[in-house]
Amino acid sequence: MSFESISRRQFVGLACSATAAFPSVAPAGLTPSDFAEALEQFRRIVGKEYVYTGEHLLSYVDPYSLVDDAGAHATPAAIAPESAEQVQAILRIANQYRVPLWPISCGKNHGYGGAAPRMPGTVVLDLNRMNRILEVNVESGYALVEPGVSYFDLYRHIQEKGYKLWLDVPDAGWGSVMGNALERGVGYTPYGDHFMMQCGMEVVLPSGEIIRTGMGALPGNNTWQLFKYGYGPYLDGMFSQSNFGVVTKMGIWLMPEPPGYRPYMISFEREEDIEAVVEVLRPLKVNSVIQNAATIRSLVLVASINATKSHYHKGPGPLPDSAARKIMADQDIGMWNFYGALYGPPPVMDTLWTIIRDSFAKIPGARFFTPEQRKHENDVLKHRALTMKGIPRLTEYSLVNWVGGGGHIGFSPVSPIKGTEALKQFRMVRDRLHEHGFDYMSVFAIGWRELHHVVELVFDKTNAEETQRARKVFEILIREAADAGYGEYRTHLAFMDQVARTYSWNQGAAQRLNELLKDALDPNGILAPGKQGIWPKRFREG
Ligand code: ADP
Repeated sequence: MSFESISRRQFVGLACSATAAFPSVAPAGLTPSDFAEALEQFRRIVGKEYVYTGEHLLSYVDPYSLVDDAGAHATPAAIAPESAEQVQAILRIANQYRVPLWPISCGKNHGYGGAAPRMPGTVVLDLNRMNRILEVNVESGYALVEPGVSYFDLYRHIQEKGYKLWLDVPDAGWGSVMGNALERGVGYTPYGDHFMMQCGMEVVLPSGEIIRTGMGALPGNNTWQLFKYGYGPYLDGMFSQSNFGVVTKMGIWLMPEPPGYRPYMISFEREEDIEAVVEVLRPLKVNSVIQNAATIRSLVLVASINATKSHYHKGPGPLPDSAARKIMADQDIGMWNFYGALYGPPPVMDTLWTIIRDSFAKIPGARFFTPEQRKHENDVLKHRALTMKGIPRLTEYSLVNWVGGGGHIGFSPVSPIKGTEALKQFRMVRDRLHEHGFDYMSVFAIGWRELHHVVELVFDKTNAEETQRARKVFEILIREAADAGYGEYRTHLAFMDQVARTYSWNQGAAQRLNELLKDALDPNGILAPGKQGIWPKRFREG
């Protein structure tokens, strides 16, 4: 079975050793007979084979749940429409019966909840069947896609057609182009900020009304995927990380294939080097000498692609220093490993490289590598050389195997591109994780003016005590980060309320506005209740 084409159900089946709970209860506030009637109506819209219940719901279980109660994010049914018209009809029925719906595109949001809904009893609106690539424009460099188009799909399409365009992909390429952009995910080419590269949407509002954003609102326009803002308020942001609409089409800018490409890696010896690395990095990035969304990867994160913890350390607790040193030697990697790439005509790359090399060479112990210089067949730079040119892959997903039992969730605070801040965040998180017996595995991904510090908390999900410990330390990390002025850019379902509460300036004014918008757009509270901590009135009060 190819891992790339594995279905969600097969994947969750493999990932979940415990039997998942499928509550037979109706969504909150609905009688079983009303719910049965609503399901019947949904069947009329999409066809009975596309309303899933029973064992089919294994596809919608979060394989990495941290919650004791297996039913906490369980769904009683899923509906898979094939068109925006069907989505509209479904939302109208959902309003009539007050059935809460949770839209997903490919449902591969692993580490943040997968395909599972925030609130138990919410029906999953699975948009996977809407998977048409509606347009690829080579001249202007964009695609217009439906929700179910994965990175693998779009990549294959572009290759088959021979278009000279590159994608920008996250570490795991099986997710959807749309879902990742809506969650404001990142990739690693110069187009790494996915939501920044999004242009023009079609959205079905909770009422069932359909709109187009930006230039899409102008009948007969020819710039929907070219100019993001249109006229009047810029609405697209409202539909990212939100529960204000179901996005049914989205434009995404694609990078023209550059005339040259040179990936590289720089390793650094000591943990405290992160401060100097980030200080060197800031002016290089802000001045576009570093062109891509480059990353600084911690020792254990890099090591986990080629080794498991048990190989180096058998007992409980975090990896001891001696083992870390051994890994550095075995894998010829640093405590920190910077992965970047140059793009453009050779003379441009030559010039940029001279500046980058000379800047990082000032850090004692810095070592520079091209993929050809890396000996190990499965070396991370060889994989990242493909990822940084937009080839979707799954290889680095093997980090989940670092400890047995393969659970993982992402803790993702944002930091300024400042050495002292990066060092502070690193120490805060590392110390807390070590205290609770976990290893520190992270990537600092560089954006235009900030760092996404994405920490992979890898745990043995077959071990209830360890899972509980992971949850506890995660709660502490969120609290301590917020106390120090750091917020998460994204989080797992189980922590959406806690993170939302940390964005509390002026007694939570931003959240009150979110609620005002939610109640105006979705008075029956049917769309993704609780997403990002935004609850509709009926559940806020209940
Ligand atoms: P992936 O792209 O990784 O497969 P998902 O499909 O799971 O990701 O989407 C991630 C999250 O984004 C979902 O849980 C949902 O909250 C939101 N989302 C995804 N697709 C849509 C959509 N078409 N409209 C509105 N929200 C969406």
